[in-house]
Order: sequence, then C-alpha cells, then structure tokens
Amino acid sequence: MPDNIPFLDLNAQHAPRRAEFDAAIAAVIDSGAFAGGPVVAEFESDFADFCDSDHALGLGSGTEALWLALLACGIGPGDEVITVPNSFMATAEAITYTGAKPVFVDVDERTYTMNPALLEKARTSRTKAVIPVHLFGQPADLDPILAFARRHDLRVIEDAAQAHGAEYKGRKAGSIGDIGCFSFYPGKNLGAFGEAGATITGNSELHEKMRVLRDHGQVRKYHHSMVGWNCRMDGIQAAVLGVKLPHLSKGNERRRQHAATYNRLFQGYEEIVVPLEADYARSVYHIYAIRVREREEIMRLLEEKGIGCGIHYPVPIHLQEAYRDLGYAPGAFPVAEQVCAELLSLPMFPELSEEEIERVAEVVKQSLPVSAL
Ligand SMILES: *Cc1c(COP(=O)(O)O)cnc(C)c1O
Repeated sequence: MPDNIPFLDLNAQHAPRRAEFDAAIAAVIDSGAFAGGPVVAEFESDFADFCDSDHALGLGSGTEALWLALLACGIGPGDEVITVPNSFMATAEAITYTGAKPVFVDVDERTYTMNPALLEKARTSRTKAVIPVHLFGQPADLDPILAFARRHDLRVIEDAAQAHGAEYKGRKAGSIGDIGCFSFYPGKNLGAFGEAGATITGNSELHEKMRVLRDHGQVRKYHHSMVGWNCRMDGIQAAVLGVKLPHLSKGNERRRQHAATYNRLFQGYEEIVVPLEADYARSVYHIYAIRVREREEIMRLLEEKGIGCGIHYPVPIHLQEAYRDLGYAPGAFPVAEQVCAELLSLPMFPELSEEEIERVAEVVKQSLPVSAL
C-alpha cells in the first residue's frame, strides 16, 4: 500500500529548516519585540523588495489587509465596492466591515478571474473601488480593470492573498493597483506559523494611513489622530516569514513545474478541463484545480486511495447565507456558479514528487466514466 498523499504538507517544507526557524524565533524572544518592532520592519522591507513595491506593511491577517486598504481609500457606509463571487469569504467581508456594500460581477470562463467586460454594468454612482482577486495564484486581467477604474476615478485593491510572486505582464501581483493585499495564513504560498498578512503600495499617503490605522490611529505613542484598530504583525511571525521569503521563488517555480506535469498527464482527456494560464499571466499555482462533471465520484476514489483534495469554493459568496440580505438568487452569476460546482483542487505544494503527481493523475483518470476514455 503506497503512502498517502496529502493535499498540503507543511511539515515537508518546515522540517529541513527547523534549526533556522528555532534560531529566528529565539532571537525574537531574546529581543522582546513581540508586537511589531524591528523584525517586522525588516520583513516589510524585504517583502516590498520582493514585490517590486515601495512600501509593505505587516499586519495580523490578509483580511485585515483588505479592510485597512479599503479604509485608507476612504471607503465607508453608502459606498459600493465591486468584486467577484468566487473567492474566499474574506474578500467580501472586508467590504462589509467598512459599512460599504459588496457588488459582484461574474468571472471569465477560462481563468475564473474577474470579467472586466461586466464592470461597466455593475457600476453605480456609489461605486468607489474594485477588488480583483488573483484566484489560485493567477492575476486577474488588470489592464482593462485599471482602465475602467481610471475612467470613473475608482480605487483598485488587488486581493493577492493567493498570488505571492505571481506576475501580470511581467509586473508583480499586488504592485499594480493602488494597494495589494497579501495573506500569510499557514497554507498560502508564503505562510507564517499562525495568522499574518500585509499590504503593499507605491502610494506613500495610502501607506501612511494604513500604518496609523494598524496601530490604534497613533501618529506617535499615545497621540491618536483617528480611531484605528490593533492590526500589528507579530514579531515571531515576521521572523518565520523572513526565513521563508528567500525560498519563495524556488517554491513557486516547483509549483509551476508540478502544474505542467499535471497538465501533461491530463492531456487528451476531454472530461478534464485543466487550468489555463492566460498569456498575460505567470501563475504561482497556490491551488491546482481541474474542472470535472463527476466531481463526487472522483473525490470518493481519491479519498479511498488516501489522496487529499479540496473544493475552492463549494458555495459562491453571493449565495452564502451570511449575504442573503444582498438579495442575489441562483443564476445571478452563471459562470461563477458553474465553476464552483465543477472545480476540484488536487494536491499542490513544492515538495510533491513527480511520482506522487503521477499517482494522483492516475486515480483521477481511473474514476472517469468509461465513455470518457
Ligand atoms: C486567504 C485569503 C484571504 C484572507 O486572508 P487571511 O490571512 O486568512 O485573513 C483573502 N482573500 C483570499 C482570496 C484568500 O485566499
């Protein structure tokens, strides 16, 4: 009986660098700089460099990054923010926290990212910003989104929580709109040992606003220019991320190789739609998801063989109970809904072996109906 193949194996990534993590964490303990502080500042500088951006701000989560980005852009009650329904819930939640209303547009059938052609129809006089989501590690088609935003004086906030190091026409994801938002949730391409996130921006004014909001609205100690929140990154998380950042590009490269291997193994199987890398994009394959009709059967067989898999995401945000009040009904966003019903995420992490990928692909193919072979 061959070993199980997990959906994600963080230990495979962490074990070889255990001594480095221990030393980095020990240094934070010795320094006593647990909430914010010099280790966070050092990571911010390194992450800004990695993203080809001027400023990075270390935060407590990706959700906080989206929230502070919206607040810094002046989004509040009465405003509308356009985003997509096939994302993690946090994208819409952040909009709701500000008092603004999430407005959804459907996605492109092949890339599963925001369909820019639908933006004009979704706009009202209250629209203030657009949040494209770089889903599964592939940047949305930003140029037409930016052109739309410029036409109507809107802000563009990139949800790059799944796209550390991805590129759009040679530029780094997150560095192209007004603000880019990242999550360092443990399972992301760059993951902390707990919760963490960051914003990046080339706009000093927006950066400064987010910096003050992150720290109770303090401009200097105990002097508060506004009511903020506590969104500081932990020193220990920054230390862990500092150990991992130098290896991110290599890990992303391996993910790309794995995706190419999966694609090759699924070639000729018409029942399996493999992810399309758009010609403008360099994806970092946070998730490798195929589209299939008979998802349940494939999942059942994968589970039986000890192979991990997942669904991202089974219920689109506009049909979540939490957003019942927005009044969307099934059929509102047919592409997103169909995609949510058919996507199946297969094991994807840098340390996967070629042999493991072959085994996963073999089980997927075995589970297809005979007519497909
Ligand atoms: C993970 C994720 C978030 C939220 O990040 P957290 O760090 O978990 O708060 C937001 N948007 C997308 C697309 C994500 O994948």
